[in-house]
Amino acid sequence: MPWFRKLLQVSSSSLRKASPLNPRYIFSSNYTSQTGGLEPTKPNEKPRVVVLGSGWAGCRLMKGIDTNIYDVVCVSPRNHMVFTPLLASTCVGTLEFRSVAEPIGRIQPAISTAPGSYFFLANCKGIDVDDHVVHCETVTDGVDTLHPWNFKIAYDKLVIASGAEALTFGIKGVKEHATFLREVSHAQEIRRKLLLNLMLSDVPGISEEEKRRLLHCVVIGGGPTGVEFSGELSDFIMKDVRERYLHVKDYIHVTLIEANEILSSFDDRLRQYATKQLTKSGVRLMRGIVKDVQPQKIILNDGTEVPYGLLVWSTGVGPSSFIHSLQLPKSPGGRIGVDEWLRVPSLQDVFSIGDCCGFLESTGRPVLPALAQVAERQGKYLAALLNRIGKDGGGYANSARDMELGKQFIYKHLGSMATVGRYKALVDLRQSKEGKGLSMTGFVSWFIWRSAYLTRVVSWRNRFYVAVNWATTFVFGRDISRI
Ligand SMILES: Cc1cc2nc3c(=O)[nH]c(=O)nc-3n(C[C@H](O)[C@H](O)[C@H](O)COP(=O)(O)OP(=O)(O)OC[C@H]3O[C@@H](n4cnc5c(N)ncnc54)[C@H](O)[C@@H]3O)c2cc1C
Repeated sequence: MPWFRKLLQVSSSSLRKASPLNPRYIFSSNYTSQTGGLEPTKPNEKPRVVVLGSGWAGCRLMKGIDTNIYDVVCVSPRNHMVFTPLLASTCVGTLEFRSVAEPIGRIQPAISTAPGSYFFLANCKGIDVDDHVVHCETVTDGVDTLHPWNFKIAYDKLVIASGAEALTFGIKGVKEHATFLREVSHAQEIRRKLLLNLMLSDVPGISEEEKRRLLHCVVIGGGPTGVEFSGELSDFIMKDVRERYLHVKDYIHVTLIEANEILSSFDDRLRQYATKQLTKSGVRLMRGIVKDVQPQKIILNDGTEVPYGLLVWSTGVGPSSFIHSLQLPKSPGGRIGVDEWLRVPSLQDVFSIGDCCGFLESTGRPVLPALAQVAERQGKYLAALLNRIGKDGGGYANSARDMELGKQFIYKHLGSMATVGRYKALVDLRQSKEGKGLSMTGFVSWFIWRSAYLTRVVSWRNRFYVAVNWATTFVFGRDISRI
């Protein structure tokens, strides 16, 4: 295997130089030693773009990179991209998990076919900006027989697209007892737990009180993800539970807890509509700030105790521990600071896109919202920019110093959408909630929501899966087997 041979060709001098004490070597705290790597490219090889992350930003970039010019190496702890807008639908079986996961090899086939392009299942742990090297650690998912090992990859161009992490505000017990909704594995965990609670609540010997607790689904955070998940859950209850779990149908409830207004990025009229629809579907809306999360109940600031059987945490995102650990320029809010061309200024050949980056204060531009539409367009823009740089002979490390970069990245918001269950949605096509333009609610919005996302699904294969899943759910109901 050529990549394994290359992994073994390590320059021992650069290993010696790597030290967390040297400020030009940027490592996270648990960095240890190295055992292999990909060497710097030679003049007879293509320049190498290393992409950290396989999310919206990284995948759109890889899709657009001209592999006649560059070799592409992607490092990520997951080998697929998640189509996040439809993730909530997989938690209750409206869609199957595979329908929202797109393997990277399908997005950029060169990764699995071209001799110098690879995908490595690993986390990046540090960046050596002087030597143009990233330090990584394999992901072995806790398999006992396989210990994680470190390796390094030399880059000509580096794109940091490692996303963000769920915010917990340091509240005790969140990480231990709540489930986030960011990855397919989270959706799987939610579905298994929901079905387990449904099954157990029907077994003889369970008390009334315990039955109510097990079947109380609590969602924390009234942003689009929390609202869409609550809507999916209430659809599941109204249709599938009522038809197939008759014994417990009166015990199951959804409570959505939010500190302020739900859907605060939408205007008043749309918010009121969402509130009305959710309430009609049986979702209890509660104002409150969570103080403590315990194994079977949460405690709010005013002392209210809320027992739960399933707790889903969706209170927004912030910089990940990996991004925190990098001593790079930062934007307001702690993301990696970038200039108008998405470069990390003062460093050669380092770029950042997606939720992990934000414009530096000095650019005079606001930090863009953590949205797929931002990440995707940054990926597209940067792929075109890198292709142009490569065509003009600036693809290798340190070879594009004085190059004219052309047009800056400009973001134009296309609008926002959110479903609220029962074939209803909100669509807001305005630049901002105060701006002029079209905004609507109801069944037509829901139809637009579904059509828009069906056309955005990355591949024809998954588009087909999604359409078939929707049709199957409509005709036969959701799959309630606990596998
Ligand atoms: C449930 C849900 C629904 C959403 N719905 C919408 C929507 O309807 N519309 C919208 O615009 N936005 C939506 N979003 C937001 C959108 O998904 C994000 O803004 C988008 O995913 C950001 O893309 P990204 O590439 O920056 O990060 P991500 O997509 O999060 O990808 C980050 C990647 O980096 C990898 N990574 C992490 N750490 C490392 C490391 N140390 N080394 C290497 N790789 C690493 C991760 O495994 C992942 O592959 C939703 C988000 C969620 C969770």
